[in-house]
Amino acid sequence: MSEQLKDLVRTHTCGAIREADVGKPVVLLGWVHRVRDLGALIFFDVRDRYGVTQVVARDDSGLLATAKRLRPEFVVAVIGSVEMRSEETVNPKLATGTVEIAAGDIRVLNEAVRPPFQIAEETSVSEDLRLRYRYLDLRRPRMQQNIQLRHRATNVIRRFFDTHDFLEIETPVLTKSTPEGARDYLVPSRVHAGQFFALPQSPQIFKQLLMIAGMDRYFQIVRCFRDEDLRADRQPEFTQVDVEVSFASQDQIFELIERLMHELFEAVGLGSIEIPFRRLAYSEALARYGSDKPDLRCDLAVEDISKAFVDSNFKVFRQVVETGGAIRALPISGGGTASRRELDDLVARAGELGAAGLVWARYGPDGKVQSSVLKVAGEAAVRSALELAGAGKEDLILIAAGDGVVASKLLGQLRLEIAQKRGWLDPNQFVFTWVVDFPLLEWDEAGRRYTAMHHPFTSPVDADLERLSSEPGAVRAKAYDLVLNGSEIGGGSIRIHDQATQRRMFELLNIGPEEAKSRFGFFLDALEHGTPPHGGIALGLDRIIALLAGETSIRDVIAFPKTATAVDLMAGAPADVDPKQLRELKLRSNG
Ligand code: ASP
Repeated sequence: MSEQLKDLVRTHTCGAIREADVGKPVVLLGWVHRVRDLGALIFFDVRDRYGVTQVVARDDSGLLATAKRLRPEFVVAVIGSVEMRSEETVNPKLATGTVEIAAGDIRVLNEAVRPPFQIAEETSVSEDLRLRYRYLDLRRPRMQQNIQLRHRATNVIRRFFDTHDFLEIETPVLTKSTPEGARDYLVPSRVHAGQFFALPQSPQIFKQLLMIAGMDRYFQIVRCFRDEDLRADRQPEFTQVDVEVSFASQDQIFELIERLMHELFEAVGLGSIEIPFRRLAYSEALARYGSDKPDLRCDLAVEDISKAFVDSNFKVFRQVVETGGAIRALPISGGGTASRRELDDLVARAGELGAAGLVWARYGPDGKVQSSVLKVAGEAAVRSALELAGAGKEDLILIAAGDGVVASKLLGQLRLEIAQKRGWLDPNQFVFTWVVDFPLLEWDEAGRRYTAMHHPFTSPVDADLERLSSEPGAVRAKAYDLVLNGSEIGGGSIRIHDQATQRRMFELLNIGPEEAKSRFGFFLDALEHGTPPHGGIALGLDRIIALLAGETSIRDVIAFPKTATAVDLMAGAPADVDPKQLRELKLRSNG
């Protein structure tokens, strides 16, 4: 039934017509959004990426029969003229809400079957269904906005780097493993049967090679692939803003990224963010917020109150301190009025989180202290705990004892839950922080060896170099993360730029000389050819766009994402392949 577009040329998009256009002839092309059939009069909205415009087909136009056929998602051409809407039909929520098109001709360019969910209404639809019909989901206003925001943001990012003399350089997708702590996606080679390419977990080695190649400043908006254990909001392929700079200090990289973020937030209309960002040592982040990605929209922080109990009669707490543990407290402003029930709930929640116990303390209305351990610990110790935690008359403190980091993690989790519940995490506020001074290595108990906390190319802090052999676990790295509202949105480091240190690092990671040669020989060789000191960072584009868009899931800012179980529901990938392809690759499937 579809008619040809013939000589029709669009005069306006569906979001463009205004009162000033009244009387003009127009041609609109788009999708039928909604139809309201009033018998002698049919209203319908036409929609495209730019907006929605109301069309009216009147009895005298001879178009009622055509208009009656229209169903949501039909593709139409509307030829007509612009009129003012009658007062009762003005829609102030719509940019085109004061005008409508009196249809002179309606051509159905293509019909559509009944959609599996409504496009016009933001009714709640299961995510599986949305992903199966992603092309329809993408027609919905929220997704249209998110995808447009993503485009605008990437444009700002490209322009920013261009004006700062960066070159955008593509690096290979079929390559060799780059260790970033995940499994590789492998691609079998047909030409070299039995051999495999790995998809890049990041362009790390290539961007460093570009520094060796004298490119000085590199960036790339690049797809990376990580076959990780499934977590709710991870994608097997995701996009990074990858950056590398020669001769740069950590401070210079921070300044660059702070300016980028500042421009980005202004450009997408989220206002001016405060720069420079604050910096927090990794150890402090863990101690004070129980997390290496603290949400600093809420200023509650954990305090160490071990001293309050060293001389007390409270044996359990005293022993914790004597055996190297800590007593930590989270003061909650205004929490002093919490009911017994609320306090019991907090204790129960701590239990659910795996804690052996949670103690609370506060000042009563009479100024006397109250605490779940008042009797065993004594008034003086509890009072001193409140004072050390900096608690005021109205405040409550939650106390956890044991290994310092474990206690802080518990309190940090409660901190987030309480802040969420009390509305202290304002979605319109953006608080950035750099987390610095990460340990270089992490002990992997299962493998009984060290692994790189960031990646094996990260430089140790100069002052700690001596300890590389004697106390590797205590060596700090020149590594940093960028955290926004409790999400890690980027990470990077100053790199090792001499071969000897790089070899030493591989040794520490239990990568022997043979393995180092076969996996990274080309890179070790390159390091000998005049490598400038360099460093960089990668920002998680999907997460940043999600935060800008106010979305909690990165899937809502990716046009064609995979599910949380790494499946493309629309295309049906992964899928079986033709046995012929396997034979060509000399592979056998046991699946
Ligand atoms: N390659 C790192 C990553 O993908 C970032 C960096 O060190 O620049 O996380």
